[in-house]
Amino acid sequence: MDCIFCKIVKGDLPSTKVYEDKRFLAFLDLNPINKGHVLVIPKDHHNTFLNTPVDLSKDLLALVKTLAPAVMTASGANGFNLLVNNGKTAGQLVDHVHFHIIPRLKDDNLHHWPGKQYLDNEMELFSKKIIKALEK
Ligand code: 5GP
Ligand code: ZN
Repeated sequence: MDCIFCKIVKGDLPSTKVYEDKRFLAFLDLNPINKGHVLVIPKDHHNTFLNTPVDLSKDLLALVKTLAPAVMTASGANGFNLLVNNGKTAGQLVDHVHFHIIPRLKDDNLHHWPGKQYLDNEMELFSKKIIKALEK
């Protein structure tokens, strides 16, 4: 397997770990958005969040809830962004599901994505399409 996060799990690649148990690993992102930026992964390889079994996802999220306050304390942050990129189009570079915990500081100069505007009845249209897709 070519996956770099699997290599980190196996110890074939180095990482700066902040948490480890039988099923999960959390380590510092090599190129942090802010210092203290942590990646949380299941040790088993699953490509995306959608491919990750529900029970494992729930426990992963519970772990994220434990880790996030510690990340904030360590970074002197007032908040954090929780991010999961799914698929290349969404900016996923490593195909092993991971949660980013990104500590946020006042005046860190990171901005939200710009919002778009719905035209005419587009909002209604999109809600109907999503509701229909849920029925499948
Ligand atoms: P993605 O774009 O897939 O959501 O994010 C992948 C993240 O993994 C990036 O933020 C990147 O900096 C981080 N990363 C990539 N390779 C390594 C590595 O070998 N070690 C660590 N600690 N982080 C990595
Ligand atoms: Zn992997």
